[in-house]
Amino acid sequence: MAYAITRTCCNDASCVSVCPVNCIHPTPDEPEFGTTDMLYIDPAACIDCGACADACPVDAVFPVDRLCGPDTVFGDLNRDWYRDHPNDHAWGAPTFPRSLPDGLGTLRVAIVGTGPSAGYTAQELLRSTGAEITMIDRLPVTGGLLRHGVAPDHQSTKRIADSFAGVFHDPRLRMHLNVDIGTDLTHEELAAHHHAVVYAVGAAADRRLGIPGEDLPGSLPATTFVGWYNAQPTVPADAVELSGPGAERVVVIGNGNVAVDIARILLTDPDRLATTDIADHALAALRRSRVREVVLLARRGPAQAAWTKAEFLALRQLPGVEVVVEDHPEVRAAIEEAAGTTASDARAALLAGLPLVPFDGGAEPAPGRRIVLRFLSAPTALTAFTPPGEPGGPGASTGGGRVTGLTVARTTLAGGRAAEPTGETDTLLTGLVVRSIGHRGVPVPGLPFDERTATVAHRGGRVVDPATGRPLPGAYVVGWAKRGPSGGIGANRACARETVGALLDDAAAHALAAPAASRTDFDRLVRHRRPDAVGLKGLRAVERAERARGEAEGRPRVKLATVPDLLAAARRR
Ligand code: NAP
Repeated sequence: MAYAITRTCCNDASCVSVCPVNCIHPTPDEPEFGTTDMLYIDPAACIDCGACADACPVDAVFPVDRLCGPDTVFGDLNRDWYRDHPNDHAWGAPTFPRSLPDGLGTLRVAIVGTGPSAGYTAQELLRSTGAEITMIDRLPVTGGLLRHGVAPDHQSTKRIADSFAGVFHDPRLRMHLNVDIGTDLTHEELAAHHHAVVYAVGAAADRRLGIPGEDLPGSLPATTFVGWYNAQPTVPADAVELSGPGAERVVVIGNGNVAVDIARILLTDPDRLATTDIADHALAALRRSRVREVVLLARRGPAQAAWTKAEFLALRQLPGVEVVVEDHPEVRAAIEEAAGTTASDARAALLAGLPLVPFDGGAEPAPGRRIVLRFLSAPTALTAFTPPGEPGGPGASTGGGRVTGLTVARTTLAGGRAAEPTGETDTLLTGLVVRSIGHRGVPVPGLPFDERTATVAHRGGRVVDPATGRPLPGAYVVGWAKRGPSGGIGANRACARETVGALLDDAAAHALAAPAASRTDFDRLVRHRRPDAVGLKGLRAVERAERARGEAEGRPRVKLATVPDLLAAARRR
């Protein structure tokens, strides 16, 4: 019986390189790689050896006959992909581990960030060279989006952290946490102590809607909401209110995987979340929550949804939650058209069979817990009710009090892919709006920044001066800071390989200046600037403290949710 890849596929292609019969696609050197939702096993070619299951860092691969419950569908999804992409794929060219020419001495590389792109970069450098690595993070704990972005009910995805833990504990690697580059140390200081600096800083900000009322209380960016349930220590425990006025309906703007994560967490039974590493304050708020309806608001149609199939299917299978689609002729037509095709990647086909219902956002939510998929609706303003006696009030306005409504304009695709307003508008009553329209990169002090893409200006991972096109010697970038905020965790593996490849080529070409000072000098400088910097021993102490708290409650860990708590645990080593 063949194997199949399931929902948690991280796309890092660890399985591809161990498959003896080349039956897992798309491979990193095929054009579809990075554009498909996941990787797929060809059941006709699979020889059932199980090597892929052993290599998978997130436990996503199982024999088809062992798939059960919601995972059963993945047997078909794997098979169907090969219907559209016949497996006549030739073997890719062999790749060999990179190495450096003799006589170059020990390469010293700083990596800024400790999330997935940093982890893959360190892994690649440690595996293929004798480099010494310094890892730096502004938070007193490692993990980046792996710890503070991946939803708590996706514990198997978080298992990638186990493979990075081995990397972080390598004797050639030193860790300096709670240190901010740009505030505590400059890029120049970092560069002076290393041959190369790789920035793996992600995309820390949110895209803006640019509409009136966007910053009213009760309107939150997804980074705040996700950071809140993941105990991101810069997000306060009371950042999200789920039991105030109007809390029965939450509107999530955006139609990507983050929006799906937020809808799922809002409506999942808290008893199920209580077995995860969700932040304690979020669990308590979810237990008190009055939310019973989440509206996922998309400005375009179902065919243009940005969520992946696997994540959407999981949303459909949420126990005790009904998923409905707002009935609209253009949406109905898109679903019917997709259902009539055999294309395995048709998003709208996944909506076939869901109830199509009229939706009145001006009325109280219907009884029971439900997710309403509302397409062809662009947000135009958030409104608040200002109580009598307060400036600007009383009445509905876009300034003053807490959000009470979101005005949306009906759109049409009118045969194209762009959403055009039809002139029709209505207002959805809600006490909480989450803006989940994607991340945005922020400039790194000392590095050129491309405002258009909100990424560090680079070519193939080498940071370049956009005015001259010349590389900034010894500076590199990886992950979302390089590619922009799209792609799951595994996409960073190939990205890191490209950046490390450029760095090693430069080292071999003697284009990297030798560090002006020693590793010990650098440690001393960090201690001088940040006496409360956390090293590897402190990180281990945090790990132990969180796991011990978790063990007592039957959870993987109970996260420490503030910087002072993390620092205190780090000191108790
Ligand atoms: P995303 O995939 O880029 O989705 C952004 C959504 O926001 C799109 O639906 C987009 O619609 C919408 N949008 C953008 N600007 C808008 C505006 N002005 N008004 C209304 N809607 C607007 O971003 P994301 O959800 O933050 O995810 C980021 C990346 O992380 C993605 O690659 C995602 O797959 C990945 N991720 C993966 C997982 C997982 O695998 N489980 C979980 C979380 C995140 P248009 O298409 O119309 O622009």
